[in-house]
Amino acid sequence: MSFLLPKNDGKLTIGIMGGTFDPIHIGHLVTAEEARQQFKLDYVIFMPTGNPPHKDKSQITDAEHRYLMTLLAVVDNPYFTVSRMEIDSKDTTYTIDTVRHFMKLYDSKLTLYFITGADAILDITTWKDYEILLKSCEFIAASRPGYSFSKLKAIMGNTFPEIIKRIHLLEIPAMAISSTFLRRRVAEGKTIRYLTPETVEQYIYKNRLYVK
Ligand code: NAP
Repeated sequence: MSFLLPKNDGKLTIGIMGGTFDPIHIGHLVTAEEARQQFKLDYVIFMPTGNPPHKDKSQITDAEHRYLMTLLAVVDNPYFTVSRMEIDSKDTTYTIDTVRHFMKLYDSKLTLYFITGADAILDITTWKDYEILLKSCEFIAASRPGYSFSKLKAIMGNTFPEIIKRIHLLEIPAMAISSTFLRRRVAEGKTIRYLTPETVEQYIYKNRLYVK
């Protein structure tokens, strides 16, 4: 990932877009593009999960499929790229290790944001080394329409007021759809056209993903 070009002053601002992407959909893409613009990110690196601690691997589509679908979805955006770092790891993958890897690569020149779903961030205090993680980067929490930030505040604000300052909520109307919704539609033989890029749609059909 050292091919990311810093600005003229040597600085680099990146967003790591962490998710299972099973499959990637337009909600994810709109989230990444909105985050890029609002937070002036030079690049967004999509990071499909490898062996996350909180999920049973047998319930998730093979990592190579999720990686390839993500690649197909972002290939036409010059600011987006996909990393194999987590999917190639043999060990349990923790966000702190991913973040540390990038901090080490770019040192003090780097400003890092971790972008993911607001619901995933609700559990952040259970993540490995979360206090160090929150000092290392800021978080962008993508929410579905109608999501209330007070839920996050209620859980963390009182106990961890310093945490809440480092989490930015981004309401994304396109997140009304979800990966679960797409998987269910494919299983029911319903169309997923326009819910994900056409290349991803074709990849799903070609590889008979999500059929019962
Ligand atoms: P998840 O539980 O599958 O997803 C929770 C919610 O967030 C879902 O509604 C999901 O919608 C949404 N979401 C997930 N990724 C998103 C993204 N990039 N942008 C917008 N919405 C997103 O969460 P997950 O995918 O397993 O984990 C999310 C990230 O947190 C991953 O990078 C994972 O490695 C990290 N994580 C780290 C630890 C740790 O280090 N200990 C623990 C837990 C999670 P969709 O289903 O539509 O995507």
